[in-house]
Amino acid sequence: MKVQQNTITNTKTNSATKDTTENWSIDSSENIYRVNRWGDGYFGIGEHGSISVTPRYDQPDLSINLQEVVDEIAAEGIDFPVVIRFHDILRSQVERLNRTFRKTIEEADYEGRYFGVFPVKVNQMREVIEEIVSAGKRFDYGLEAGSKPELIAALAYNTNKNSLTILNGYKDEEYLKLALLGQKINRKTIIVIEKFSELTSLISLSKSLDIKPLIGLRVKMMVKGRGKWENSSGERAKFGLSIAEILNAIDLLDQEGLKDTIKLLHFHIGSQLTDIRAIKEAVQESSLIYTQLVKQGVPLEYVDVGGGLAVDYDGSQSTNDSSCNYNLEEYIADIIYGFKQSCDLESVPHPHIVSESGRAMTAHHSCVVTKIIGEIQPSGKLYNTRKETGEHIIVANIREIEDNLSVDNFQESYNDVTQLKEQAMQAFKLSVLNLDELAKIETIYWRILNQVGQLLQNEDFVPEELKEIPEMLSSQYLANFSVFQSAADSWAIDQVLPIVPISRLNEKPTKLCSLVDITCDSDGKIDKFIGDDTVAQHIPLHTLKNSEDYYIGIFLTGAYQDVMGDMHNLFGRLNEVHIVSYDDDPKDFYIEEVVKGSSVKNVLSTMQYTPEIMAQIVKKEIDKQIQRGKINPREGVNWIDFYENCLDGYTYLK
Ligand SMILES: *Cc1c(COP(=O)(O)O)cnc(C)c1O
Repeated sequence: MKVQQNTITNTKTNSATKDTTENWSIDSSENIYRVNRWGDGYFGIGEHGSISVTPRYDQPDLSINLQEVVDEIAAEGIDFPVVIRFHDILRSQVERLNRTFRKTIEEADYEGRYFGVFPVKVNQMREVIEEIVSAGKRFDYGLEAGSKPELIAALAYNTNKNSLTILNGYKDEEYLKLALLGQKINRKTIIVIEKFSELTSLISLSKSLDIKPLIGLRVKMMVKGRGKWENSSGERAKFGLSIAEILNAIDLLDQEGLKDTIKLLHFHIGSQLTDIRAIKEAVQESSLIYTQLVKQGVPLEYVDVGGGLAVDYDGSQSTNDSSCNYNLEEYIADIIYGFKQSCDLESVPHPHIVSESGRAMTAHHSCVVTKIIGEIQPSGKLYNTRKETGEHIIVANIREIEDNLSVDNFQESYNDVTQLKEQAMQAFKLSVLNLDELAKIETIYWRILNQVGQLLQNEDFVPEELKEIPEMLSSQYLANFSVFQSAADSWAIDQVLPIVPISRLNEKPTKLCSLVDITCDSDGKIDKFIGDDTVAQHIPLHTLKNSEDYYIGIFLTGAYQDVMGDMHNLFGRLNEVHIVSYDDDPKDFYIEEVVKGSSVKNVLSTMQYTPEIMAQIVKKEIDKQIQRGKINPREGVNWIDFYENCLDGYTYLK
C-alpha cells in the first residue's frame, strides 16, 4: 500500500527552480508541475519535452505527444481554446474501477458482486454517457440519475438489462412514474428514498399503476465526510432518512405488503473525500446498519456507498482539499474487506456493492488547451532613461544605486530604492518632480527590482523582507479562455486544477506568472496552482517568443468543470476535439470528431436575441450612411459581410 504523505517537502521544488538553465531536465519540470503524480498513469512528460498521454492503463506503450495533437488541431483550422477529450481514458477508467472491484472481491472471497453506476450529473454530455455505457457493458455498469432530465436520459441510454439505474435526488410524482416506466421496460431502476414523503407518493402510485418498485433507503450517516463537501452527511444533511425514519419506512412498507421491495441501503457522505479515514468510518457505520436491518428481516440485497472517490488534482497525496491520501485500490479494499468483516461477524450474507464514483471516472479524460496571447508585466513598457545634465537628485540617486548594484549589496539597494520611489511620489505631488522624471525613476526602479530578483534566484537563504520580490515581479499571462466556462470550481471554490505548458518542458521556466482570462471580470483569473506544501499563487512558465505559439493545458477538467460552465460575457462552449488512440498510426492517434463550440449567434439566441434582425438593423444603418455619401457602396457591403461573419464566428479571440 501507498505511503501516506501529508505534505510535500519544500526542498523538492526549491531545488528544481534552482536547477540552472543548462542542467534543466524534464525531471526538473516534473518537480514543479507533478504531471506524473496527478496524471495517474495517463499523463507524463515525454523525452521530447512535451506532455505525453498514455490513454490506456493496460497499454503503457501507446503514447501520444500532446503537442502533436495540438499541431494537428491547428492544422485543421480549428480555433483555440479547445476541449480535448480522450475517449480511451474514459473507457480505461471504467474498466479499471470494475476490474479492481472484481479482483478485490475475488481475493477477499467476498460473496456479493459489484454493480457500479456512473452519476450522470458529473458529466452529462451524450458522448461521455455513451462511451461509459459502452465500456461498462461487460461489467453490468449502470447509471445514476439525480433529476428528472437525467432519469429521462438514463432510461434511453442505460439499455443493459443487468445493470442498475439508481435514482437519487428529490422526486415528484412524475419522476416516480418515470422510474416505474423503467420497471415496465425491464430495467432495474432502484428508487432511493431521500425524504419520507416520497415513500407515501410512491406507495399510492405503484398501487394505482400496479407496478412493484425496487426501493432503496438513503440513510443520513453520523460520520462526516472530509473536505469541501462534508455537509453532505451528518444530522443536518439535506438528503436521507434518520434511523427512526428508516425504521418507520420499513414498518409502513410492511403494512402495505411491500416489504419485499426494499432492496438497497444507500449513503453518500460527500464528494472529493480527501481522507481515507472518512471512508473507513462510513463503511463501518453503514455495515452495522445493514447487518442489523437484515437480521430484522429486511430483504436488502445491495449497499450503495455513494460517490466521493477523490482525484489527486495537486499530486500531493495529502488531505489538501484538492488531493487525497489514498488510491483506488485502497478505497476498494476498505469497502470490500469492511463489509466482509462486519457481515461475517453477524453471519449475514455479503451484500452486492454499488458505488457512484463520478469525479474519479471522468476527471482525467478531458483537458482544455489554450494559447497565451499576451503578457501583463508589472513594470510596463520601458522608458528612455537617458542622463540629462542637472537632473533631479532623486533621479541621480536611483541611477547611482543601479550602477553599483551587486551580490554584496542587493538587500541594501532594495531598501534604498523602495524609499527613493516613495520620495519620488511625494516630490511629484509637491510639483518638485515632473512626469518625465517620474517615468525615469519608475523605469530604473523596475530594472533594479528585476536584477535583485535574478540575484535572489541563486541565494540559498532569502531574507524575509525580500520574499515579496518574486511576487512583485510576477507577470500575468493572458490566456484565451474563460474561467467561468472552463474552470468554474477554480473560481467558485478555490479548487486547484493542474496547469502545465504543453511543450518546452525540457527548458527552464523562468517567469513566475498568474493567469488571467479574457472576460471583463476581475475574478476571471487563476491564482491557485500546485504549490510546495499547499496552494501557490503563481506558477513558473516560460518566456513568450514572437515566433512560436505558447500553449498551456488545464487538466483534469472532465468531471463537473466540463458541464458546469456558464455564459459569463457570452463566451459559451468551446470547440471540442475527440481523440482516439490507434496503435497503427505513426502518431498513435487520430481525431475522431470535432464538435463546434458556440458561435456568437448561438450565445445571443440563448439570451433571446434574434441575430437575423440584428444584422438587418446594422445593415439599415450602413445603408443610411451610404445614402448620405459617408460610406461608399462597396465598402458598405464589406462591412455588412464582416458583421455577419462575426455573428457566425467563434466567441473567443482569434
Ligand atoms: C454527486 C454525487 C455523486 C458523485 O460523487 P463523486 O464525488 O463525483 O464521485 C454520487 N452520488 C450522489 C448521490 C451524488 O450526489
